Amino acid sequence: MTMTTTAQARSTLFTDDFSTDPYWWEESPRPQLPAQPLPASVDVLVVGSGYTGLNAALVTARAGRSTLVLEKDRVGEGCSTRNGGQISTSVKPSFGELSRRHGEAAARAIHMDGREALRWIGAFVREEGIDCGFSVCGRFHAAHSARAFDVMRKDAQNQTPGLEVEIDIVPRAEQHREIGTDAYHGGIVLRRHAVLDPGRYHAGLLHRVLDAGAGIAERCPAGVIRREGDGFVVSTPRGDVAARDVVIATNGYTGSVTPWLRRRVIPIGSYVIATEPMPRGIMREIIPRDRIVSDSRRVVYYYRLSPDGTRMIFGGRVSQGETDPRASGPLLHGEMARLFPQLAKTRISHSWMGFVAYTFDTLAHTGTHDGMHYAMGYCGSGVSMASYLGMRTGQRVLGLKEGRTGLEQAKFQTRPLYTGNPWFLAASVAYYRWLDGRG
Ligand SMILES: Cc1cc2nc3c(=O)[nH]c(=O)nc-3n(C[C@H](O)[C@H](O)[C@H](O)COP(=O)(O)OP(=O)(O)OC[C@H]3O[C@@H](n4cnc5c(N)ncnc54)[C@H](O)[C@@H]3O)c2cc1C
Repeated sequence: MTMTTTAQARSTLFTDDFSTDPYWWEESPRPQLPAQPLPASVDVLVVGSGYTGLNAALVTARAGRSTLVLEKDRVGEGCSTRNGGQISTSVKPSFGELSRRHGEAAARAIHMDGREALRWIGAFVREEGIDCGFSVCGRFHAAHSARAFDVMRKDAQNQTPGLEVEIDIVPRAEQHREIGTDAYHGGIVLRRHAVLDPGRYHAGLLHRVLDAGAGIAERCPAGVIRREGDGFVVSTPRGDVAARDVVIATNGYTGSVTPWLRRRVIPIGSYVIATEPMPRGIMREIIPRDRIVSDSRRVVYYYRLSPDGTRMIFGGRVSQGETDPRASGPLLHGEMARLFPQLAKTRISHSWMGFVAYTFDTLAHTGTHDGMHYAMGYCGSGVSMASYLGMRTGQRVLGLKEGRTGLEQAKFQTRPLYTGNPWFLAASVAYYRWLDGRG
């Protein structure tokens, strides 16, 4: 049978050892945890083994609470070993926007959460000695149009007093010191933004959680969760577990077990490719200062070099309903080659995806509902925030006042008729792309 031209073009884009597993799994393969019998009861049961769940479990286990983490797939199989490893403050709405919605005090508290999440994750990996390539490399945030650059420049020059961040403005004429393309209209450098290897970070976190004495049950989904006495009983395929406290940490994989939460998060596919290794000289031309990069489009592209400086790790939202990384890979490659024609013939070695969770107000949310603690809705930007809110959730389970966050002040909204299936997504993405095209 003859291949179609498109299929042929696609196949030449992939290396012979092409994989749909995340690139990070090469160095941090999915661990094999020994299957142990489930305890009949624990103090704290955490649903989900990503950054949120593990950070919550670390706090409760270290405080002496018997803690069990349930994971429906393999440990860390969700976003937490699939992401781009770019670290920001993770708060999308501006201070002005949040002030209009919630008042100035809440807006300030929410922005402080974002700054604290960024600061805290650096301190955490350092204090824990987690070897994950963490570095405060700074972010080049590129303007996709002259108008976008103007907005960035004005925002950078008029920051909210008390919430200023270190920003360098990079005009188009000088952007080659940051990026090897003429496709942008300048940008800004956010100096405190950071980078890590998501697989190694998750692996380090996992070891510390196990060392703290928590149990982790893989391929063991939480089923029905019912209240009993002053606690809960959680059904699993391996039997029921009673728990005094339950933490829901399922983010973009939130399902019918927690319908109230499912109505509040919008699962969206996010896609990444890694290229085959390239000579370091070429990669240094493309991202000379080894920063993380994102752009100002609503349907954003974000990229960075691999920790060894030889590959491009290029991510974005390319597909409206597609979840096959063999189809999304070439689309991302096309965008990468548009920005960097020098990479047009560079092949894709890995292409993968995962589900992030958006929310209707583009804020992460944490709190308690029906007696269960939760933290989720990082809107595609959760390396620092999921870790931080997981840690804070653990503190709230312990009854500590440090567990309180500014984000709790924003109501976790849903919309009429929304039950967890984002039927409106394709139309929204198409509309945002159209807006991006207008500059
Ligand atoms: C492709 C991609 C790129 C990204 N890039 C970045 C980036 O560069 N920077 C950034 O800050 N963020 C990024 N993110 C987002 C970031 O990875 C997430 O916000 C973060 O990992 C969320 O962590 P989490 O622990 O809340 O969720 P997850 O890591 O997704 O974990 C949730 C877990 O819950 C489990 N689960 C669901 N239901 C059940 C159940 N009933 N029982 C048991 N377990 C259950 C799931 O299997 C899953 O493992 C990216 C995400 C993706 C997918």
